Amino acid sequence: MSASTAYLVLQGGRVLDPASGLDAVADVVVRDGTIVEVGANAAANHPTAKVRDVSGHLVTPGLIDIHTHCYPGLGDFCLPTDLMGVDSGVPVIVDAGTASTTIIELARKAIIDHPDTKTKVFALMDPSQIYLANKSFICHYLRIAGDERNIDIEAAKAVVDANRDVIVGFKVRPTITDNPDRSPFLDAAHAIAPDLPVMIHLGSFPHTPVLDTNKLLYQLRKGDIITHACRGGGGQLDAQGEPTKPFIDAYERGVLLDIGHSAGDFHFRTARRMIERGYMPSTISTDLNVFNVDGPVFSLSTTMSKIWALGVPLIEIIRMNTVNAAAAIKRGEEYGELKVGRSAEVSVLRIEEGTVQLSDGHETIEASRRLRAVGCLRAGIWHDAVHDLKSAPDALQEAV
Ligand SMILES: [Zn+2]
Repeated sequence: MSASTAYLVLQGGRVLDPASGLDAVADVVVRDGTIVEVGANAAANHPTAKVRDVSGHLVTPGLIDIHTHCYPGLGDFCLPTDLMGVDSGVPVIVDAGTASTTIIELARKAIIDHPDTKTKVFALMDPSQIYLANKSFICHYLRIAGDERNIDIEAAKAVVDANRDVIVGFKVRPTITDNPDRSPFLDAAHAIAPDLPVMIHLGSFPHTPVLDTNKLLYQLRKGDIITHACRGGGGQLDAQGEPTKPFIDAYERGVLLDIGHSAGDFHFRTARRMIERGYMPSTISTDLNVFNVDGPVFSLSTTMSKIWALGVPLIEIIRMNTVNAAAAIKRGEEYGELKVGRSAEVSVLRIEEGTVQLSDGHETIEASRRLRAVGCLRAGIWHDAVHDLKSAPDALQEAV
């Protein structure tokens, strides 16, 4: 292939880049995996480029889903990596705690770095020695997940230091042992790599006692992430549906809210409350796994559509899954923005107008439009969103 044919142009789309504020019809030009130009009629500067007409579509920085389970063959509730990634128009995904310190390097070899994996994958690692998320919760059932002897801080530090190109933080189950005031697993994660964010979830796990939500909220640092932030009964809202003081304090301290939809961990009702009161999620993620891919989650674009349906402006929806998601995993220098010189991660979505039913698994709402992925560039290579195009079977009637 000659150098001139290595140029590819995504031509004529509505380019929406929240980080720079760009919202205009423009072309995105890439070459050899890198963004080389973004601008109106930029294609004219590259007459020999291969052109993909994306007129009528949204063109955004590559979408990032910071909560998936994407190590198939390791965790039996994981989904195929690319199904949640490039096959859903999402070039960058993060596995949230499927594997622990003694397993993560195998996950690298088998999936993250494997040449068959087309999606860029990062890891929020479980800080235990042995933990594998699976369908039967066996590590919880056998009580390994709550046993302090499962922690080895020095060994975990060595694993993090050897894999910092992939490990972007921790996913922690804040389980307790003898002391009801502290979680040795949360404390371990903070000690292993104090500069890396910790993602936690509010609420219980089977067979494993966890830190009281109010105590947990006070122990989170700026940049730590609450996933399943809009679940019901998580303890972030009081009996009257008002945010609790520990939750408000955590939010004001810079603790981030992540959607982490999952099968039952997102409630429109909770999300409405929180958004109305100004507690905006920072990121929209799916928690996609075998239990929710056939509904209610389906895909990232469907999850984004649900937050959009609550009245959050489109540019904020895109911001959550681009610049905010990159910042949450401390990869804002590389991802989340359409900048010349960066790796060419670019997503293309279409807005489908018409009545659509969207369910959170508890409640179904009617929206007047939805987002659906068309495809994406990952390091400059185009992938059709084959999963997203066939998922989300919600009936969509054309507007009349
Ligand atoms: Zn999860």
